[in-house]
Amino acid sequence: MPRADATSMASETKTGKRRWIGIMFECCAIYSRLYRAPGSTEYRGRCPRCLRALHLPVGEGGTDSRQFRAK
Ligand SMILES: [Zn+2]
Repeated sequence: MPRADATSMASETKTGKRRWIGIMFECCAIYSRLYRAPGSTEYRGRCPRCLRALHLPVGEGGTDSRQFRAK
């Protein structure tokens, strides 16, 4: 990993900007989290059981809701 990326990630962690949302994967009825990478405009994650990839765009001005469902 390039040194610049490591520095960027450390900075994000220090300022507490790394965000996540809770989501229910209805394919397997499992609750998990999607994380947003620094600088990204969407949350990404995978179902813990079937490993189905999921992308969820970040809403305008962010979103107050922390509960989502993936069908
Ligand atoms: Zn699943």
